[in-house]
Amino acid sequence: MISNEELAELLFPEVRETLEDLEKRFPPRSLPEGAEVTRFAPSPTGFLHTGSLFTEMIAYYVAKQSHGVFFFRLEDTDTKRTIPGAAKDLIDQLREFNLAHEEGYFPEGDVGAYGPYQQSKRADIYKVGIKHLLKIGRAYPDFCSSEDLEKIRKAQEESKVVPGYYGIYARDRNLTNDERAARIKAGEPWVIRFKSLSNHDRKMVFHDEIRGDLEIQENDIDVVIYKSDGLPTYHFAHVMDDHFMHTTLVNRGEEWIPSTPTHLELFSAFGWEAPKYAHLPVIMKLDHGNKRKLSKRKDPEAAVSFFLGQGYPVEGVKIYLMSIANSNFEEWCIANKKYTLDGFLFSFGKMSLDGALFDLDKLSYFSKEAIAGMDIDRFYKEVEGYARKHNPELLSRLEADPSYFKKILNIERERPNPRKDYAKFSDILPATRFFFDDEYEQIKAPGLPFDEHFDTSFVKEFLADVAANMAYGPDEATWWNSVKEIASRHGFAAVNKEYKANPEAFKGNMAAASSLIRVALTGSKDSPSMYEIISIIGKDRVAKRLQTALD
Ligand code: GLU
Repeated sequence: MISNEELAELLFPEVRETLEDLEKRFPPRSLPEGAEVTRFAPSPTGFLHTGSLFTEMIAYYVAKQSHGVFFFRLEDTDTKRTIPGAAKDLIDQLREFNLAHEEGYFPEGDVGAYGPYQQSKRADIYKVGIKHLLKIGRAYPDFCSSEDLEKIRKAQEESKVVPGYYGIYARDRNLTNDERAARIKAGEPWVIRFKSLSNHDRKMVFHDEIRGDLEIQENDIDVVIYKSDGLPTYHFAHVMDDHFMHTTLVNRGEEWIPSTPTHLELFSAFGWEAPKYAHLPVIMKLDHGNKRKLSKRKDPEAAVSFFLGQGYPVEGVKIYLMSIANSNFEEWCIANKKYTLDGFLFSFGKMSLDGALFDLDKLSYFSKEAIAGMDIDRFYKEVEGYARKHNPELLSRLEADPSYFKKILNIERERPNPRKDYAKFSDILPATRFFFDDEYEQIKAPGLPFDEHFDTSFVKEFLADVAANMAYGPDEATWWNSVKEIASRHGFAAVNKEYKANPEAFKGNMAAASSLIRVALTGSKDSPSMYEIISIIGKDRVAKRLQTALD
């Protein structure tokens, strides 16, 4: 009768290392007390989903705030789904968010002592673990073809039992080692399954950092842990990797909750301590009053590239994500009079489970705050970086005259109540077109939207007077007084109280007078500080616009 040892040897003769050898190769990390080791472990199967960025950002902050380590592992064992270039794109995006790892997989090569950090390159490591489980009788080869599995599935469907490879449905679980050896030697293809000792009629409890103690059904399915392509499945790779990379806390999507009993059973079969788990809620969206998952087909905001392409400031997106992560974050910002992540302590305990609702208006609000809080040099740099990557039109405006552009960006900035009109960098050009003469001419072409209440010749005369006699400095008060003086000459009330007392006696108040100037200069009734606009456009161009506004 063939022993488990001999069977393991027959299946993996090339494996000479043992688990003890691996323990020596990957010794514990030396970190301060309380330091968390977290990771982001995406599969390179497409774009970076907003939900993944959310998960990643939390892992990043939990590690940083505890003086631990955050690393990146590329989970590419499902080789059929791997998209070339996806991992690089993903990491480039994390870099744009300043959330990139220091340890782990990089397209240019791994960094760190616990690698390789790409699962497809860890086959020899996994085999050591598989061989060990075979030796201790907690794994076995399964010779079922896909047709055999389909038969089992059908039989289960007919008898209305839970589907899966377990109990009496685990066809090859109880083969003898002699039978197994004979089939292996005959060249039959095989996979390796974990021999579960659980019972799905029983419940087990595990602790989740967000949800507390969760009582869920045991999982007695003998999951495949090693595939015919020589690579493990997620379940097995997770257990081996997070053990040998010394992860202390696994935060991952809530879709993994039902598999956690299997993972815990695997850890215990090896005699290892499992990491802590935090299963993050899926980001939802309100759609016609119903909550649904953020969908990559229906919602552009499901892809992180959307935010980068639109030019949402990364700080705004991060602040927004933190506000959905921790219910106390916004209060903390208000108390600090500043929207920033600096100094905020994320906590799983403050994570709302039904609060992960994506809301673009809220994102815009935080983004406006983030943009308004930047000093001009930072703002200019961010806009330039965005324009260079995503917006050639903006870039050409900016490069044509950087100092002019900087002045435009600096309007009503760097003061106690900065202007908050940009939610994203792509809002800048549409809002500032009038600063560029070619664009101004286009705005003007269909006719400027002057208040129809005034007749054209009156407006013409008034604007000509303003052009000729307005003070172009030296400060806002002097300039405004000169505008008031000119407006009075044309029948406007310089003092609003007088206008209110007797509106019939005037052409209008100063709001009406300045609106005419504003429309002539910007093409709109709404604009930032006119004084600043005038100083930026400059005397000659301002005078020209005022003189020709009605031509
Ligand atoms: N590759 C898995 C996924 O993308 C990772 C889950 C985990 O973090 O363990 O869902």
